[in-house]
Amino acid sequence: MVKQKFPETDQRVFHRVFICMKCGAKLKADLLKVRAEKVKCRKCKRKQLRPIHKEHKV
Ligand SMILES: [Zn+2]
Repeated sequence: MVKQKFPETDQRVFHRVFICMKCGAKLKADLLKVRAEKVKCRKCKRKQLRPIHKEHKV
């Protein structure tokens, strides 16, 4: 009966996109994996990633 789109669902998409602090490449990954440093940048292999959503606020 209630057909609401959960805003949380959209946010999660952004929460799972990260930016490489070294080369600025975007990559999708799980937050947990990034925190555990199991995710590397495809381009430069750095593990220093930051969530995109901080910069997404305009
Ligand atoms: Zn990189």
